[in-house]
Amino acid sequence: MSYAIDPGQAKALLEMEQRGSFPDPRGRFGPFGGRYVPETLVPALDRLEDGVRRYLHAPEFQQEFSSELHSWAGRPTPLTHARELSRRWGADVWLKREDLAHTGAHKINNAIGQALLAKRLGAKRIVAETGAGQHGVASAAACARFGMPCVVYMGAVDTERQAPNVGRMKLLGAEVIPVTSGDQTLRAAIDEALRDWVSDPAGTYYLLGSAVGPHPYPYLVRELQSVIGKESRQQIVERAGGLPDVAVACVGGGSNAIGLFHPFINDATVALLGIEAGGRGPGLGDNSATLSFGRPGVLQGCYTMILQDDDGQVQETHSVSAGLDYSGVGPEHALLMATGRVTYLQATDDEALDALAECCRAEGILPAIETAHAFAGARRWARDNPGGRILIGLSGRGDKDMPTLQKTLLRGKL
Ligand SMILES: *Cc1c(COP(=O)(O)O)cnc(C)c1O
Repeated sequence: MSYAIDPGQAKALLEMEQRGSFPDPRGRFGPFGGRYVPETLVPALDRLEDGVRRYLHAPEFQQEFSSELHSWAGRPTPLTHARELSRRWGADVWLKREDLAHTGAHKINNAIGQALLAKRLGAKRIVAETGAGQHGVASAAACARFGMPCVVYMGAVDTERQAPNVGRMKLLGAEVIPVTSGDQTLRAAIDEALRDWVSDPAGTYYLLGSAVGPHPYPYLVRELQSVIGKESRQQIVERAGGLPDVAVACVGGGSNAIGLFHPFINDATVALLGIEAGGRGPGLGDNSATLSFGRPGVLQGCYTMILQDDDGQVQETHSVSAGLDYSGVGPEHALLMATGRVTYLQATDDEALDALAECCRAEGILPAIETAHAFAGARRWARDNPGGRILIGLSGRGDKDMPTLQKTLLRGKL
């Protein structure tokens, strides 16, 4: 662990997290989180925070949110017993099927919730950023559903490796703007979306796609994505007769992971395991394993763990999965690692691709390459904990990854 706090402080912070004290009134998760932004962004974030306080937990908002999740997005998503993986791994494996949510990943939960919030805040247009394109597609779909124009910023590198999603966004009525500045991936796209928002904070709403960025986004996204863990908890108790021994999710910005983990934070017997993108290996620039290899610093409005060099320069990252290719991570994950409540490990590109192939053959499910990192981590956990009950957050489906899979797993095989 590259961020150490003393055991007494870790215990106190965990107790506060378990009591629901975070984020605190300054938007902090212990030492992490907060709001490190230029003056020009403060009024926009204040407006958003106000809106979150007023609407997010109001019965009228929650009712419309649930109804849209149910009748438009297909929730609750099923919990599938993975029969063959259970046999192979000597474990009891259960899959929370976010791949079966509308548009093919967990991203839609957040997109619906924030689009509903944008309407209540009187926004006339939505801007969003996207990495793998899944959040762009979810935002474009939600904007079409709620009748709002949508602009999606996407790194130029990502528009190429996720070409099918660019077409989907356009069909759903969004304008896609390729970003050629900076690293030309997710980080640059977030910068552009923030810039756009600042130029018209009242008329524009910035629909951020993960549990990152300045307060209140990490909190807002966690609350909207917690539907994953709440459903899973109830479903696994009903179907398997008890809680899981471990819940496993992949971690990019950390939205599907915090959504799965948060409702289990107070269940002492449930281990929580987040899997980052180990890429080609531990070298600087070869991975996106922020919690494993990063150090604390400020990135895009938030104090969190960041991949940076000795001079504090943010590092470019690598992962075979565009959706995990980000040099920061949500501040609540930084806290959960520091307290020891969640363990964060990595899976390399090759391990993820191998786990993807196994899931396809064994279960008849093609997961996203992002998701496959969770499978690789779960498989390792099963080896060390024979007979355990494993809940895997199956964050999305892999159809969008066909261009990458053609060049890797399928190379020379067609
Ligand atoms: C975007 C994405 C991720 C990574 O984002 P998080 O915010 O870390 O969840 C993981 N899986 C899928 C399928 C995605 O689309």
